[in-house]
Amino acid sequence: MTRFSIFLFSCLLAAASLAPGQSVTSSDIAVSAKARAIEDSATVIDTHADTPQRFLDEGFDIGSTDPSDVGHISLEKARRGNLGAEFFSIWVDPETNQGHFAQHTFDLIDSVYEQAARHPDRMMMAFSVADIERAHKEHKLAALMGIEGGHSIENDMHLLRDYYRLGVRYMTLSWSNTNEWADSSGDIDDQKIQHHNGLTDFGKQVVLEMNRLGMMVDISHVADKTFWDAIATTKAPLIASHSSARALVDAPRNMTDDMLRAVAKNGGVVDVNFYSGFVDADFRKAMESQAKDQAAAIKQYVDSLKAQGKPVNYIEINRIEREWMAKIPRPPFKALIDHIDHIAKVAGIDHVGLGSDFDGVSGATPQGMDSAADLPRITQALLDRGYSAEDIKKILGGNVLRVFRQVEAVSREMLAESH
Ligand SMILES: [Zn+2]
Repeated sequence: MTRFSIFLFSCLLAAASLAPGQSVTSSDIAVSAKARAIEDSATVIDTHADTPQRFLDEGFDIGSTDPSDVGHISLEKARRGNLGAEFFSIWVDPETNQGHFAQHTFDLIDSVYEQAARHPDRMMMAFSVADIERAHKEHKLAALMGIEGGHSIENDMHLLRDYYRLGVRYMTLSWSNTNEWADSSGDIDDQKIQHHNGLTDFGKQVVLEMNRLGMMVDISHVADKTFWDAIATTKAPLIASHSSARALVDAPRNMTDDMLRAVAKNGGVVDVNFYSGFVDADFRKAMESQAKDQAAAIKQYVDSLKAQGKPVNYIEINRIEREWMAKIPRPPFKALIDHIDHIAKVAGIDHVGLGSDFDGVSGATPQGMDSAADLPRITQALLDRGYSAEDIKKILGGNVLRVFRQVEAVSREMLAESH
């Protein structure tokens, strides 16, 4: 989730007004038979989609075939894009859920199960590498879950274990908010926030308990020092479920080349975020220029609701954000491929994957990437850059499967030791 919270951008100054929004043409990337064949023999895995917000707040049905729906994920779109497994993000807005993080976490987990129960012929809950492979054989979408933001555990190791038992297979140590044991990149410059210089001792215990349980440690969103603490602590490979490259776009959410090399050494994987604000410097600049006005528009809406004693409506905020995003020209498709290519070159081909952030970026994705149905275009673009079929399959999901398998193996070892 990269939703623009007011606090994230309150520090940014308004700059000159933007070039007027241009009509966006979807780039024409024809997917060849060769690319299709690679897709068909791959297990395509995406490690981050925020669709559960839609399940819960909008009552969205993943079986929807509504042609006017602008969402990135549906069973139909997943099928067209050959998507084999999706890690659905369990993201609890820390501002609107103060005092009941766990309750909202459970509600979101429930929303994923309910969708799987509604569509047993095309979707199944998955909790392991074996489950993903079984779903693939049965031509069903494997539905996995990752918690986005350590605040969900309410500083309670029992809750962490309960989430594992319910099927959560990764946790992002922080979202954009620093919690009580991990610093976030989202507020690291905010003097009003109490920081910890990375992970606290309890935070390190959380990482080790995740290792023991077999829950992947996700370092997307965390502050740089938290990243380095996590990588020094973990006994298993870790993931960046939805992060891009800072050498190409200077966003604190993106990873430096040193971090990419450290993840390679750790044996982990960095799954590239498709969000235009993370993959294209021009888009990011335009976004920063409008940040103050956008934040003011959202604040006005939130204040008016508060004045009426009404709860904040996620759908409405998302609509406002989409309107603002749509004013900025979409980056070319190649911006996304440049990040995959950069990470493959710096970290190595075994350490890059896909972490779209679908349904969490207010519609702001590069041209030609309108939904999960467009995923095969990535294969085509990588072929066009000279990548081999074997290497492409690693990027599409092979690397994530390897890391997940390794995390399962480390868990088995640690559990055996602790008995
Ligand atoms: Zn996110």
